[in-house]
Amino acid sequence: MKYLIIVIHLLIFCACSGQKTESPVEGQLSEESVVVVSPLSEVETYYLEHKQDSIIGSSKGSVSNGSLENGTLLAFEGANFQYFDTTSYLGGRAFTHQLVARTILDTYKILAATSKRKWFLMELSNEHGGKIFPHRTHQNGMSVDFMSPLKKDGEDYVELDNTGAQHYMLEFDNDGKLKDNPSISLDFDQIAHHLIVLDEQARKHGLKIEKVIFKMELRDELFATPYGKKMLEKNIYVTRNLTPLINSLHDDHYHVDFKRM
Ligand SMILES: [Zn+2]
Repeated sequence: MKYLIIVIHLLIFCACSGQKTESPVEGQLSEESVVVVSPLSEVETYYLEHKQDSIIGSSKGSVSNGSLENGTLLAFEGANFQYFDTTSYLGGRAFTHQLVARTILDTYKILAATSKRKWFLMELSNEHGGKIFPHRTHQNGMSVDFMSPLKKDGEDYVELDNTGAQHYMLEFDNDGKLKDNPSISLDFDQIAHHLIVLDEQARKHGLKIEKVIFKMELRDELFATPYGKKMLEKNIYVTRNLTPLINSLHDDHYHVDFKRM
């Protein structure tokens, strides 16, 4: 089922990727007249045109039936973070509430002091919120998907971080090991550390984590780590009742819903 949903997702991405820069046909243009526009330049331009980060945004309704006014577009990348997919970004799926954006960015700044890892964000919300297929939530700018950090032989493993939308297709067993290569596994302690800092920074902006959606069979592994134990002390809520489909989708990433305190 995960595979089917993700294939549909990829088709949506492909359908909205009409803004790709066309490469000049070799021999048609002189070298001087060719202006090569890299994907990074394209996302930078998109960011500058849409960021609106000085305007206070507002969330209407709920994460599953809501909208977003004056959403903030996150930068495609920063010192230690990056959005996961260019097509998704240019498709307008990286908007969020302004306070959520500040929470995300402040969290990455703090993590930079203790970790060399580059963190990856996955999908957020549409510019004006509302339905964003195939997500059931993400409608009012308070939902964020974060890519699960991976490890291999005790070290950060980053080879799969740049696989774009296909990252949603990765599947892990109930111990958090990648099904295609069990030597690669979810880094539960880093996930828990990220969530703790995220909740602390959210509170500085008048928000808190309402809930974390993460595959239920992986909760024990998460809470067994040093930072996972602190998560329990801080009562950061990780959902216990998920439908089989939603449950199976949340291993390569974890979903966070924020709410105002
Ligand atoms: Zn999500």
